[in-house]
Amino acid sequence: MTTSVPRPGGVSTPATEPYWHAAAKGRLQVQKCGSCGHVQHYPRTMCSTCWSEDLQLVDAAGTGSIFTYTVVHQPGHPAWRPQTPYVLALIQLDEGPRMMSNIVDVPVDQITVGARVHLTPTPAADSGPPTLVFTLTNPAATPTAPPESPG
Ligand SMILES: [Zn+2]
Repeated sequence: MTTSVPRPGGVSTPATEPYWHAAAKGRLQVQKCGSCGHVQHYPRTMCSTCWSEDLQLVDAAGTGSIFTYTVVHQPGHPAWRPQTPYVLALIQLDEGPRMMSNIVDVPVDQITVGARVHLTPTPAADSGPPTLVFTLTNPAATPTAPPESPG
């Protein structure tokens, strides 16, 4: 008998509630400091550069590149076991900050550090709000058979 384990959800605080509200609609947001212009992700109550509390959530383009990644075969929580193996990546957003997410819909052997990615909000397996995951922008062409060697 197989039982499913519910996935832990995001933790909502007054600082993160608007972020999760946008995420539930498939939108990725970053915080921009009104004092120094620094852009940060995840949302928090103070700018991590100048400590100003003058922060605005703004929509991110949802584009970036893979800073680093790993292929997870043993998840840290049993709720993700059915998805193994999956790719957990640190993504360098074009706005500046880095965020942790998954790379989906592409064979693991096509993923490389520096590859361009874009947001592809995906419905949660438990029919909850979409998860903000990424996929390759220019996946490698399907490998073709090597040319036959002459005679
Ligand atoms: Zn600042």
